[in-house]
Amino acid sequence: MSFVLSLACRRCGTEHEKGAHLGCAACGAPLDPRYDWDGIAQAVARHDVQLRPRTIWRYRELLPLDAPPSTSLHVGWTPLIEVPQLADLLGVGRVWVKVEGVSFPSLSFKDRVVAVAINKALELGMRTVGCPSTGNLANAVAAHAAAAGLDAWVFIPDTLEQGKTVGTIVYRPSVVRVHGTYDEINRLCRDAAVRYGWGMVNINLRAYYGEGSKTMAFEIAEQLGWRAPSAIVTPMAGGSLVTKLGKGFGELIRLGWIDGPAPRLFGAQPVGCAPIVTAVQNGSETITPVQPNTLVRSLAIGDPVDGPWATRAILESGGWAAAVPDPEMVEGITMLAEFGGIFAETAGGVTVAAARQLATEGWLKADDEVVLCSTGNGLKTVEALDGVVSTGPVIGPNLADLERLL
Ligand SMILES: *Cc1c(COP(=O)(O)O)cnc(C)c1O
Ligand SMILES: [Zn+2]
Repeated sequence: MSFVLSLACRRCGTEHEKGAHLGCAACGAPLDPRYDWDGIAQAVARHDVQLRPRTIWRYRELLPLDAPPSTSLHVGWTPLIEVPQLADLLGVGRVWVKVEGVSFPSLSFKDRVVAVAINKALELGMRTVGCPSTGNLANAVAAHAAAAGLDAWVFIPDTLEQGKTVGTIVYRPSVVRVHGTYDEINRLCRDAAVRYGWGMVNINLRAYYGEGSKTMAFEIAEQLGWRAPSAIVTPMAGGSLVTKLGKGFGELIRLGWIDGPAPRLFGAQPVGCAPIVTAVQNGSETITPVQPNTLVRSLAIGDPVDGPWATRAILESGGWAAAVPDPEMVEGITMLAEFGGIFAETAGGVTVAAARQLATEGWLKADDEVVLCSTGNGLKTVEALDGVVSTGPVIGPNLADLERLL
């Protein structure tokens, strides 16, 4: 069933055989699958997709597997919820939230990327997968590997939130807690992938992993009745998600499944780790690495692999980027909870706060139809709300006590 011809370098175009690669052999840049678009157009129509089960695999011709998926079969099709109160607040036409916090099985959009990477690992005959992670990816790799019966080596910073640590170790992977930044852990995992031949989902399987993020774009378009919103606001860590959202909408337009234009892409990061936002605002595709200093652990990647391409995708789409201080991120979490009934993790708070800033700056306008990507579940990062929400007074189990409260 494969429509992937080769893996091509995003920077210099050099083609590589399908398989596990650390990056382009010629220049080191990321690789992307090159598809046979005529073959895809002949094999599947929008109408076929609509009749299939509501998982990411309904778009399987647009994903880089060479055989039908054999594991992670229930991933995808999270709700797209309209939140009119947020539209009023931002002063835009309509707002929807893509709620990845209820993704099966690990409650973040990382289920999508891992589902693709782990099936590729099985195709390549690998028995061990792993990742460096800021949290959500660790949860997803551990969960999906357990279900697939693969060994997992998961590398996390020693300062990770309890929810994300417990949400990893419960699946009994080999967990390595590293005293170092994400970027240092990433280099260690690169060396480990080479030394032991492991499938590191976001390193030597990254060309496949990244494609999983496109399914968020596909679902948003289909859930809106096969059309694109005018703007999308999404959090950025390594810069893969925002890049692949752009790619996903571009592919739907290319296939004629939706009409253009593609949405304007807006990227969000916390002020304490905003290397991609800085590049966008400077109009430069050169990323200057930073030392992260933020409560938003899931976005704390100081040297983002896909940063240059995220910057390009945003600028070419006519979008922009915003960095928000941590206290505004917390306000973003509580706004989404109060107005939408949606409990997002810190990255979702960053997205809502960034949308507010972008609206104030005039980047989001009165006629815009905006999708906000809430990429993870708030129960994994409750520490962010310490001292922000109060549990209220305690009373005795009698009406008199209740009466005094009312
Ligand atoms: C990983 C992650 C992101 C960003 O993903 P990139 O593709 O690395 O930019 C956003 N939100 C959450 C919650 C994540 O875990
Ligand atoms: Zn190259």
